[in-house]
Amino acid sequence: MLDAFLEDIEEGAITAKRAIHLASRASKRMRHLGVVDQNVEKLARFGRSRTGKRRGSNAARDLHRWIHRDKRLLPVEVSTTRVPIRLRKRTKTHGAKKVEHCWVDHPVVLFSSWLVTIMNLFPRYFLGGYGPGEIDKYRRMFESFWSNYRNVDGQHEVYQKPLCDLGHCIPLALHGDEGRGLAKTPLMVLSIQTIIPSTGENDLSQAQHSYLTRLLYSLIPSSWYSQKEETLDFLLGALATDLREGFNSGIVVNVGGQQEVKFFPVIVAIKGDWPFVRKACHLSSGYRSKRVCHLCPSEEWWDVSANGQARSWSGPSPCPFKQKWSPLRSIPGCDNPDRIQPDLLHVWNLGVGGDMCASTILMLSNKVRVIFQGRSLQACLDDAYGKFHSWCVDNRSTTSIMSFEKTKFKVIQPNQFPRGCGKAYDTALLCKWLHFELEQHCLESEASEHQDLLQLLRWTFSAADVFLRTIYNEGVWMPRASAEAVVRAGFALGEGYTALASLCASRGWRYYRIRPKVHLLPHIVRDVEKQLGNPRASWIANPVIYAVWSDEDYIGRISRLARRIRAGGLQVVRRLGR
Ligand SMILES: [Zn+2]
Repeated sequence: MLDAFLEDIEEGAITAKRAIHLASRASKRMRHLGVVDQNVEKLARFGRSRTGKRRGSNAARDLHRWIHRDKRLLPVEVSTTRVPIRLRKRTKTHGAKKVEHCWVDHPVVLFSSWLVTIMNLFPRYFLGGYGPGEIDKYRRMFESFWSNYRNVDGQHEVYQKPLCDLGHCIPLALHGDEGRGLAKTPLMVLSIQTIIPSTGENDLSQAQHSYLTRLLYSLIPSSWYSQKEETLDFLLGALATDLREGFNSGIVVNVGGQQEVKFFPVIVAIKGDWPFVRKACHLSSGYRSKRVCHLCPSEEWWDVSANGQARSWSGPSPCPFKQKWSPLRSIPGCDNPDRIQPDLLHVWNLGVGGDMCASTILMLSNKVRVIFQGRSLQACLDDAYGKFHSWCVDNRSTTSIMSFEKTKFKVIQPNQFPRGCGKAYDTALLCKWLHFELEQHCLESEASEHQDLLQLLRWTFSAADVFLRTIYNEGVWMPRASAEAVVRAGFALGEGYTALASLCASRGWRYYRIRPKVHLLPHIVRDVEKQLGNPRASWIANPVIYAVWSDEDYIGRISRLARRIRAGGLQVVRRLGR
């Protein structure tokens, strides 16, 4: 029963106050029946104090103190590192704000601490689901990972290690993103994830709780950044040192309390949204810079046809780094700009895909009224929403979109391009639904002046469907046949989107915005195509391993937690504690 309460608190379904209230009610009932559950009593106790009974005060404090004392927290060591920060303080006399620069010991959880703790208590987490006794199995899994990975990046420093060590190299990805913190100041959340999930190599379904798949390193509000990106550099510096030492000399851990084994953490990808990678890796390229992309010279970035650089560029690209050295580059293998991976969630779900769905819905309601019916634009949009909603019900999906409106697609002035709405998951739903509607419609095959546009739309959406369905159904490694389908559909998707943009532009309509993210989509596909170029490679890396599907959820959760705690300087320590 206590476990059920704790699970609900963890998921945010009930507050600490409610949990304590329910526990005390339950304990009262059970006492009537003559039963005493010692565990529930522990929680119910807090509801009996005088203030606790009346107002439920201090419930959160009591609950967390008890979680600490009852040793229900994962006993991971929290270290500190010295970073320069900038604080805005109120002066006592006038109440005006004064900026102060100072050095603080910022709490961080080093990867080595996570590894030591988790390997001891729950080794399956890092070993792809294998137990501590199955040494041969997990060694074989890691060895085959690295032998397949040679095709992705044969230059990685991991291949300078003796072959017998590869069975103990754990592939990891570093992720950084900004969430919304207290008073809407951005909150940088840095975390590390394993590439091979604990559910095993062939199961990338992201059904697990995101706290279980991500290991928090640290977080910091962006208002604390001192000038010249120094704060983040110092913070990442400590992370880089820890990972570099781990890579070079290994981390000895006690696997499941049975035997001592040495493991090596190996970073294979740095990912996150564009502002994070720019800041953290000191890239001179960026969506507002002259050079847009760090993976190629990107002279004409909007060209995603077979001749464009996103698809045709091979060989090393000119150095995209700024002169100032980024600490992340000192992590073995990370000095290569190719390791900074564009991720599908930002590129597709929150980028091109969102734009594509928004533009399609608005265009079909405004200019091409063949699928959605109505007298006015809003009536058409309402009709479209009705269809979408009933499709969701039929397919047992839930969406966070409550209605279709022009302003929801960020069209406030008439000359604006529609942009994506809702969350990442909504984009996936909208995409599937529009594909369904277009397929239905074309079966009727009516003569229409917009036939060419509708056919292009149908072609593009079916490419999107094949592309997304294939990559989400495969594991970390996909067979050649699937990879070939991914490449075909992925390139078709990019071409379809730009063709839709130019077709609309030729009619004077403002739909399908071409923005730098359009350039990154073919890069993701090109990465798969490059691997297919090696005829001996039978397993191809799935781009989903770099996607930040649940990362986004994780950032949301952490920021939500952080928003609820107000304790000045203690903030960060307590956030990490939870
Ligand atoms: Zn590029």
